Amino acid sequence: MPYHRIHLCLAHMSPTGAEQRYIQEAFNTNWIAPLGPNVDAFEEALARHFDRPQGAEKSPVYVAAVSSCTAAIHLSLLLLGVGKDDEVICQSFSFCASSNPVTYCEATPIFVDSEEDTWNMSPELLEEAIKDRIAKTGRKPKAIIVVDLYGMPAKWDEITAISRKYDIPVIEDAANALGSYFKGRSCGTFGDIATLSFNGNKMITTSGGGALICKDEATKKRAIFLATQAKEPYLHYEHETIGYNYRMSNISAGIGRGQMTILEDHINHHKHVHKLYRELFLNTNLTNNTNIFVQDNPNDDFDSNFWLTTILFKQEIDTEAFCLKLDKAGIEARPLWKPMHLQPVYKHAPAFTNGFSEYLFRHGICLPSGPWVTDDDVRYIVEKIKEAIV
Ligand SMILES: *Cc1c(COP(=O)(O)O)cnc(C)c1O
Repeated sequence: MPYHRIHLCLAHMSPTGAEQRYIQEAFNTNWIAPLGPNVDAFEEALARHFDRPQGAEKSPVYVAAVSSCTAAIHLSLLLLGVGKDDEVICQSFSFCASSNPVTYCEATPIFVDSEEDTWNMSPELLEEAIKDRIAKTGRKPKAIIVVDLYGMPAKWDEITAISRKYDIPVIEDAANALGSYFKGRSCGTFGDIATLSFNGNKMITTSGGGALICKDEATKKRAIFLATQAKEPYLHYEHETIGYNYRMSNISAGIGRGQMTILEDHINHHKHVHKLYRELFLNTNLTNNTNIFVQDNPNDDFDSNFWLTTILFKQEIDTEAFCLKLDKAGIEARPLWKPMHLQPVYKHAPAFTNGFSEYLFRHGICLPSGPWVTDDDVRYIVEKIKEAIV
């Protein structure tokens, strides 16, 4: 009999019921629309989160709430002028939503592999990719999409230096990284534009939703213009540009506003769960020579929110079968992302690889880490993993 089902990261509402109060307010005032006071207040609360002292650099932060992180990445590409026949460098080791919007723009993704410390984009391969594409096409890639995957900040010093050297803007997919820091500065402030996700399984949720983070008001205004069907300022709705219906609803934003009251609790909980996994796996006496590595901050510059705790087995295992075994024990676990350059849909896309993301895919899984996961759950999961590998 499974003990009870333990999920990777389930939605968790504030104990004070703040989300429902903001939704009720929307009903009371009939703000049932893809705009309204909750949208404005949620954007302000997010901007305040990013507007704290940020290590050495501090730049202004503007936030536009939209219908998903996927939409926010699409808008970011449009804001940077990405279009047909452009090339955009993408982190291969990620969820498909990091790179699919490149295809929406009829541009070509150029996949770049990961490095071993953060599992995010390898700065060396990034530079190699840029040089190679310039040599082959005579044009620079139009943008670089870097992910802070599983909450771990990317190698921002190196990546920012390359972005500046070649003058190519960076889109930071911080879908997993709300509450992560690099050198004291928030993830979501490193890219020229960054994006967040509030899907049901992220650090906080609006049921479904996302945000675009930028550094000036004009960009925010342009993002909202594109997200609301690109209506020119006439009563009859004049259109000079193709727009999208990507704005966040006032109901979803009410959930988001309430979730901001427990953001810090969620972050602390994810970090606590990660710490407990580490302690338990370190003290695990595995008899069959199996070594388990729990991903951790490479050094003190990195402060991951550990949205999901991820582990690697020293030997290659059938991660799919392993996760199914855990599933029978009531545990939701999932193999690490299959790199995009190995996905059938992207088989023709150019890729700069070193084998590392493929190694991660073949050796690693992610473990339940959300707000509902208790200390007892973590102990139970570690026990079941020990049983499953012998
Ligand atoms: C969840 C996720 C997205 C997509 O977010 P949506 O809000 O569901 O569109 C993008 N990138 C990464 C890394 C994600 O984990």
